[in-house]
Amino acid sequence: MSENNLREGILFVVSAPSGAGKTSLCRELIDSVPDLRQSISFTTRDKRNGEQDGVDYFFTNPEAFQRMIEKQLLAEYAEVHGNYYGTSLDTLRTAAEDGIDLLLDIDCQGAAQLKKNDQRGIFIFILPPDFTELKKRLYDRGTDNNAVIQHRLENAEQEIMQAPWYDYLVINDDFNEANERLKAIVTAERCRMDRTKYLLKNFTVKGDK
Ligand code: 5GP
Repeated sequence: MSENNLREGILFVVSAPSGAGKTSLCRELIDSVPDLRQSISFTTRDKRNGEQDGVDYFFTNPEAFQRMIEKQLLAEYAEVHGNYYGTSLDTLRTAAEDGIDLLLDIDCQGAAQLKKNDQRGIFIFILPPDFTELKKRLYDRGTDNNAVIQHRLENAEQEIMQAPWYDYLVINDDFNEANERLKAIVTAERCRMDRTKYLLKNFTVKGDK
């Protein structure tokens, strides 16, 4: 931790199966919570319309991504839907040292790697109310064909099996309520005594009764 910061930055890691509403909830959380920053991942996937390099992702090619893996520059990485995604170690280190709270919207494989490597973080899993609703959301969004949806549902079953080791489970039944729950988690974690103890020094008044 640098001398100017009173506590380390907190890492919030959010995962969910496709169709749970994770991306929209993460965006809303960034917009509604002060001093929470989205981590920018590296990816080999093509830029979508409206996306910007260095804002949405650092877009890179498979060779450059492979070099990052070999040089051990990534804290975690995974292949998701045929493309590689990863978080740079440097991003996590700098944020922790500078006291910046960081939000990572990453898949379950990446979250599991961070957990396994003892990366300190708050792990949050998001789910719709039940499997029927998950299916409905994937069909309703109309972006994928039946085979892709079927594949996502199979992946979802595997991903949901990982949920128990996460620290928090947020059910996204109502979007605003789910956002309130996520905000509450951030607030509660920021208030933890091990992160706020430094404030107690304001109450050690010598000679005062
Ligand atoms: P999309 O291509 O739709 O932006 O993201 C696809 C999936 O990749 C999402 O589930 C997202 O959470 C995940 N993802 C994005 N960045 C990372 C990352 O740095 N690491 C891992 N493991 N997954 C990521």
